[in-house]
Amino acid sequence: MMRKFFTDLINFFFPPICPLCRRLINDNKIICEDCFEDIARLLVKEPLCLKCGKTKKHAHICKKTFLFDEIVTLFYYRDKVAKLIHFYKYNRRKKFANLLLNFLKNRVQYLKDGYDFILSVPLHPARKRERGFDQNEVFCREISKSLDIPYVKNLIYRIRYTKPQAGLKKEKREKNIKNAFIIYGNLRGKKIILFDDVITTGATLNELSALLKEKGVEKITALTLAIA
Ligand SMILES: [Zn+2]
Ligand SMILES: [Zn+2]
Repeated sequence: MMRKFFTDLINFFFPPICPLCRRLINDNKIICEDCFEDIARLLVKEPLCLKCGKTKKHAHICKKTFLFDEIVTLFYYRDKVAKLIHFYKYNRRKKFANLLLNFLKNRVQYLKDGYDFILSVPLHPARKRERGFDQNEVFCREISKSLDIPYVKNLIYRIRYTKPQAGLKKEKREKNIKNAFIIYGNLRGKKIILFDDVITTGATLNELSALLKEKGVEKITALTLAIA
């Protein structure tokens, strides 16, 4: 009762506003209904092509080759989806992550069987300090629960502080991320899910996949929230 009173009071003075379009929201939603529909429209529709991560249209002949074996994606990285991911990354508002996770949990059913563990593309420790958290860890912990596959955090380290990949051209991205990681342990014969929030050219996931394959990993399935 008291709690409702305070919520009403807060809502009266600070009415909830959709962070994506700045319009008032009436109920307890995170974003307004129109924005929710816009987000849902940006889902990569199934069936997915596991080679390129996009929709497998009729007579889809895929020429894409990455150094990981498969890729499962969720959204196209544009408009309100890009905005939402950006919001979450820089403001750490868990509710934005939850919104994306609701979609992600359905999509990861592709990955139910046959994986030993989940790894994520890590931030450099200095960048993690700057930002206060690693957004990939938050998603991986939830995916791990949802699929009942362990999330292993201390295998991959980022040893070089790189420029953000955003804004760099393909060749520059490859150069920028080269030798940025080290991996510990023998991973011979392992099958893993490798998570990153966004894939653009694939330079980061490729760089890590090459290292993981050197360590003997048998199968790598990249999983991303969004694909550019
Ligand atoms: Zn809205
Ligand atoms: Zn394809």
